Amino acid sequence: MAEHEANTEQLERRVYRGLREDNLDPQHVVALACELLDWFHCSDAILEVVERNPAEVSPAEMTALAWRVLDDAGFEPGFDLAPERLVTLRAALRIIARDLPTRGIQGEPEIEVLEDWFPVGAGVRLADGERLNWGGHILPSMCDDPTMALTSLAIMIQESLLEWTWRVWPVCPRHDLGVHGSEWNGAAVWWCAGDGGHMLAPVGELSRALGFRRRK
Ligand SMILES: [Zn+2]
Repeated sequence: MAEHEANTEQLERRVYRGLREDNLDPQHVVALACELLDWFHCSDAILEVVERNPAEVSPAEMTALAWRVLDDAGFEPGFDLAPERLVTLRAALRIIARDLPTRGIQGEPEIEVLEDWFPVGAGVRLADGERLNWGGHILPSMCDDPTMALTSLAIMIQESLLEWTWRVWPVCPRHDLGVHGSEWNGAAVWWCAGDGGHMLAPVGELSRALGFRRRK
C-alpha cells in the first residue's frame, strides 16, 4: 500500500510537471492511470487512458485527459510544484500585515512553509519569532484564489492570537463585538455579527476603519 502511494505520487508529480512545462510524456499518463486502476481507483478518464492506444490520442486530448486523471486522483500540487501559490500567499500576508499594528504587532511577518507537516502547509512567523499556525495551517489548495488565501490567513492569524493571548481581536467599536475574517462579495473582510451583520473593514484596511470611527 505504501509503495503504491509512493508510486502514484511520483507519477502524479511527473504528469503535473509535464503539463505545466508543456512536455507531457503520454507514457507517464498511462502508467499513472494503470497504477490507479490497479488499486481500484476508477473513472471515465482513467479507463479511457488505459484502454486507448496512446499513439492514436492527440496531444491536446492527452493533455485534457491528464488533467482529468489528476483531478480524479485528488492530486493537489504543493508549494514546491506550484510556487505561484506561495507568491499569492505572500501577497496576502503583505495585505493583512497592515492590520497587525492595530493589535500592537510591529515588524514584517513572514510566511513559513511547514515541510514536516502532512500535507505540507504554511504558517506565519512574526518579526519577534512568534509562530502563528494554530488551528491548522494554510494548505496550498487555499492559495489559488487571492481572496481565499487572504481570508484563510486572516482566520488563522486571528485564531492563533486568540489562543496565544486570550484577547479578542479585532473588535467592532460600534458593537463591542469580536469580528471575524470572512469572505463577503468576493473580498476578504472583517465581519461583525452586530445589528444583523456588517463589514467593519476590508482585511488590510482595519487601521483606517478604526481611526475613522474613533474620530467620529
Ligand atoms: Zn459591529
